[in-house]
Amino acid sequence: MSPEEPMLASAAIRHEDLIACPSCDNLTAIPALQHGDAVFCRHCNHPLTQYQHNAYDQVIAYAVTTLILFVIANTSAFLTLQATGSENLMTLPGAPLAFYERGMPVLAFIVSSVILTLPFLHTLLVLLVYVPLKLGKPTAWLILSGRLVFIIAAWCMVDVFLIALVVSLVKLRTMATITLGIGFWAYVGFAISFTLMISHIDRLQCWRAIDALMNPGPRTLKPPPDPLTHTQATEAKGS
Ligand SMILES: [Zn+2]
Repeated sequence: MSPEEPMLASAAIRHEDLIACPSCDNLTAIPALQHGDAVFCRHCNHPLTQYQHNAYDQVIAYAVTTLILFVIANTSAFLTLQATGSENLMTLPGAPLAFYERGMPVLAFIVSSVILTLPFLHTLLVLLVYVPLKLGKPTAWLILSGRLVFIIAAWCMVDVFLIALVVSLVKLRTMATITLGIGFWAYVGFAISFTLMISHIDRLQCWRAIDALMNPGPRTLKPPPDPLTHTQATEAKGS
């Protein structure tokens, strides 16, 4: 028997302290954590949670930085291409627009969604969750926003787009002169800040904080009724 099994069998373990591994469904009891402590699945070593006492401040700071850089990236010149005497100025919103104008509306929708709309929406939702958590004030939209944060996160492909863009630019350098604009560097900063923001969001800690805020009070399981007391009470009612 492993050292954890007697602990799991103990009545002191609460249901909310158990977490199922997303990789293998193995149940793990999460102990009280200190800053920087991480818990991994004992069966497959999948990371389960990591506690950071200043996570709210860091996530909010990265989210605000992400939004500022997103606005700059979308309103500034992204890059300029010079070839055969002509010059083309490209902007970030112009990328999906170019696909649409060339008769590829589905591709235009996908590109605009995964690199622009969803990352922007995700960052807004992160603020809608973490600002109330930081302030300790429950809101009507807190649970819905929390659900959407983790659903949309899987569809944000900022890093994939950035890598594909750099590879494309390296190839294009042999055919055209490329001048990178402020919008390009702002998008690089946006992608880095967005990635750092996501890396500081811990699913378990986030939902525990939401639960504590929406359901204040002691979080202990009710003990089973004492058979003797229960019998005495029944008899007293019957007499
Ligand atoms: Zn596992």
